[in-house]
Amino acid sequence: MKTLETLGRIGESPEGMQRLAFTPADVEGRKYVTTLMTRAGLEVRVDPAGNIIGRVEGKEPGLSAIALGSHTDTVPSGGKYDGALGVLGAIECVQSLRDQSITTRRPIEVLDFTNEEGTRFRRWLYGSRAMAGVLESDDLTAVDDEGVTIGRRLEDVGGDISRIQEARRQKGDLCAYLELHIEQGPVLHQAGIPIGVVTAITGRIALEVSIIGFANHAGTTPMTNRRDALLTASRIIQAVNSIATHEEICRVGTVGMAKVSPNAENVIPGRVDLSVEFRDVELDRLHEAVHRLNGICQQLVLDKDFEIKVSELGVTKSAPMSPRLREIIEKASLGLGLNTTSLPSGAGHDAQSMAEITDVGMIFVPSVDGISHSPKEYSDPEACANGANVLLNSLLAIDGEGD
Ligand SMILES: [Zn+2]
Repeated sequence: MKTLETLGRIGESPEGMQRLAFTPADVEGRKYVTTLMTRAGLEVRVDPAGNIIGRVEGKEPGLSAIALGSHTDTVPSGGKYDGALGVLGAIECVQSLRDQSITTRRPIEVLDFTNEEGTRFRRWLYGSRAMAGVLESDDLTAVDDEGVTIGRRLEDVGGDISRIQEARRQKGDLCAYLELHIEQGPVLHQAGIPIGVVTAITGRIALEVSIIGFANHAGTTPMTNRRDALLTASRIIQAVNSIATHEEICRVGTVGMAKVSPNAENVIPGRVDLSVEFRDVELDRLHEAVHRLNGICQQLVLDKDFEIKVSELGVTKSAPMSPRLREIIEKASLGLGLNTTSLPSGAGHDAQSMAEITDVGMIFVPSVDGISHSPKEYSDPEACANGANVLLNSLLAIDGEGD
């Protein structure tokens, strides 16, 4: 709890945490993480994707490592627990083993991934995707809102874009990846269950919808002659909601961003760009949601003289958790007298990238009132300690398995 509080003061503001990736606060937070890792006896290095990797060797040579991790960057006005709990909980596990002079058979790695939230470049899970070798060409050339390239930003955290391929880990390099995380939803808190065993991480499809109408004088243009892009955008926003809520094609659908041009009070909006995302654990349902949205847009174009462009920005496949690790987490929890329930994760996590190269398991602890990505985000000390204990006992169980 002390380390969570200390990290929670780095980048803190009255509106919440502002430890966005690559900012001075992020750099300072990473320095603190490095100090804790070193104190816990981990050998620390930073890979070309800026990921902080702490490693302690095991007593049997030639065995692959067990990795534990998460991220320490935050969204704007975020909370103190999202990501931080997983990294600091992992370090606490290694520190506890050291305090009790326990050496595991396998090496242990603690991973703090770069730019998980992707707030700045809209390129999330950056470090973990680099480690899994699934970065796309656009990821290497991205430019942020201030016109600064990702390569330049990576330098600020000790990365090197020209060698980013070297951040890639091979299958078999790690024998498992475990991530402790707050649930960020209401299920565990409402049910009064201390531990959630994640079944799968939901998939996500991100789109940009541009509505091009005609900007004209708000006083002189009769209502019948208008090509109001914002009015049409409002119908699309309704449709996105309805696709998930009433038609139940996918689990959730959200329009989170709207750019209105020219965005002036006396001008009929001529163009609106919307961000749209759909999430579900089934990829087919995501494609169906997009298909439905395209149909609705075509209808709107026919009704009025508009141009509507729907562009797909990216698909993140859903990632199933390893049945073997789910069982281990379940047993470790019950062994500690903690009840569990199985649930999917609606939010994305570094674990989904890591699923490309190793078996992954995720442990959830309750978020009070299901609030996250907010300064009100809170998990009580007992919940955090329970999660870290389950993480430690799962780690030891994996270490005790046959090869
Ligand atoms: Zn997170």
